[in-house]
Amino acid sequence: MADTVNALPFFYGNITREEAEEYLHLGMSNGLYLLRQSRNYLGGFALSVLHSGRSYHYTIEREPNETYAIAGGKSHRTPVDVIDYHSQEMDGLVCLLKKPCNRPKNMQPKVGPFEDLKEKLIREYVKQTWNLQGTALEQAIISQRPQLEKLISTTAHEKMPWFHGSITREDSEPRLQNGSRISGKFLIRQRDVTGSYALCLLHEGQVMHYRIDRDRTGKLSIPDGKKFDTLWQLVEHYSYKPDGLLRVLTEPCARPDGDIGLTRPLLPRDHPGLTSALQNAAGGILYKLRNVPIPGLKKSRGSRPNDTDNLNPYETRVPNNQAGSKEAMPMDTEVYESPYADPDELRSTTVDRSQLFLEDGELGSGNFGTVMRGIYKMRKTEKQVAVKILKNEDNNQSVHEEMLREANVMQQLDNPYIVRMIGICEAENLMLVMELADLGPLNKFLQKNKQTSIKNITELVHQVSMGMKYLEEHNFVHRDLAARNVLLVTQHYAKISDFGLSKAVAEEQNYYKAKVHGKWPVKWYAPECINYLKFSSKSDVWSFGVLMWEAFSYGQKPYKGMKGNDVMQMIQSGTRMDAPLDCPLEMYTLMRTCWTYKADERPGFSVVEPRLREYYYDIAQ
Ligand code: AMP
Repeated sequence: MADTVNALPFFYGNITREEAEEYLHLGMSNGLYLLRQSRNYLGGFALSVLHSGRSYHYTIEREPNETYAIAGGKSHRTPVDVIDYHSQEMDGLVCLLKKPCNRPKNMQPKVGPFEDLKEKLIREYVKQTWNLQGTALEQAIISQRPQLEKLISTTAHEKMPWFHGSITREDSEPRLQNGSRISGKFLIRQRDVTGSYALCLLHEGQVMHYRIDRDRTGKLSIPDGKKFDTLWQLVEHYSYKPDGLLRVLTEPCARPDGDIGLTRPLLPRDHPGLTSALQNAAGGILYKLRNVPIPGLKKSRGSRPNDTDNLNPYETRVPNNQAGSKEAMPMDTEVYESPYADPDELRSTTVDRSQLFLEDGELGSGNFGTVMRGIYKMRKTEKQVAVKILKNEDNNQSVHEEMLREANVMQQLDNPYIVRMIGICEAENLMLVMELADLGPLNKFLQKNKQTSIKNITELVHQVSMGMKYLEEHNFVHRDLAARNVLLVTQHYAKISDFGLSKAVAEEQNYYKAKVHGKWPVKWYAPECINYLKFSSKSDVWSFGVLMWEAFSYGQKPYKGMKGNDVMQMIQSGTRMDAPLDCPLEMYTLMRTCWTYKADERPGFSVVEPRLREYYYDIAQ
């Protein structure tokens, strides 16, 4: 949404109400309007309209179901739809929206003091919270950006110099009276754990205390004052406008621990205090918030708000000291990074049988035999693992070699969205020790969990595209990409598995040519695989389209009831599967693109992944 709105010529970004009025008054025509970013509601907008020489301002709120509406009004899909509607219908507005007030030439939408530092903050937060760097860090940001943005914007106040945490009213006063005693010097303290705060403001040598309450929807306000999503938005607002306070906020009173020092006062319309505080925070003063060890999950150090997705029995939640519980991100789990990312763990392809403990109960079974749950004792840690065990009767040479080939491919791959091989164990049976993805195959999961949201499915499918982009970049073709071969670690974390048919391809040739037809999953195969036995990342893209179809149809079988030959004829004639019920148009369009007949004209994962990413961010933010 942000990009679409940014491109509108009448969108001004993070300007104040007064600035909006100045622009409108230059135009002086009835119904002249502009759009700006809401300064109090995250993801919301404000519409300013001129009528009879006066400006009127309306908040366009983003509603929980991702729609937009002027408070109490009709809901629309986008803020632009709200504007289109009110150019036809007054429906409570002072007049019809007649003419956009476009930005002056060469003026870009104004970036808020938080927006421009968000990037740096997110990076620093991920680095410190999960101790990640390099590709693991980049991949975490790409896959979890909406969650991280929300997290940063709701906890950013903890990094502000004016936030003094849980101190008493009595303790706050000497802090404001010490040092400079400029009117407007302020701090915010936490009053209780339910999320109420106090704004303490120095005015003509006296300290005023204003309560900041949190309403049932989580919005913060001084009694009878404007409501805000976050404390930093509240501070920003009262820094340029008293709006009921005795005066505007000028200078943040720095916390005595001195970890974030401020040299310049916070001035109206210029927020060096806020900016430098964020810069300091981005420079490395982000806190590690909490250590909560829970089984199967890495120690969690972040503190995140809850998502609005429905909670289902498979949902992994991390206990949280503030909000009760929170959803696990991929980085919270044990399997986000390779066990060998720890330099103290010796990287070895062989697993010592005495360190491997098999548990009762099968995780599943496949062509080779069974997959069991186990524990692998490493040097420093014990890992829960999945162990693929070759059937004894199949201990013949060719199956043995096939399994070793699969292990050989897996061993060369290291990506958070691919099941990693931990090692091979040659004992009573040949065993392939892998990372454990406890929730099992995606198709089965979705069949059982029909309440899974479209946002959640898009998140998972996007992660698969990230893993596939990695394979494409490293010249591997999977050749068996299907929802049954995507395993879930949590409801929000998918990994590609089953590399039994995978091949490394030569960079210059970029495809693998099979010698003979095999026992193939033809419903997932592109025409060139069947017709010319040619397999490339482009044919994996075709399979990915089928996988998307499976996911958005909650694990249904593709081309249900049809024989392989009929499917081939159907494709040949130009017909494709219909969109799954309630599938977003954007996602069905992408599937159809993946099913482009000619491989040359079909996009690669370098195109598919960003398209999925864009849609995911759009619906998740
Ligand atoms: P495969 O032989 O690779 O097709 O695996 C057969 C079944 O075993 C899968 O469908 C899963 O249910 C289960 N399985 C395989 N690998 C894992 C794993 N790494 N973690 C959890 N379950 C797995």
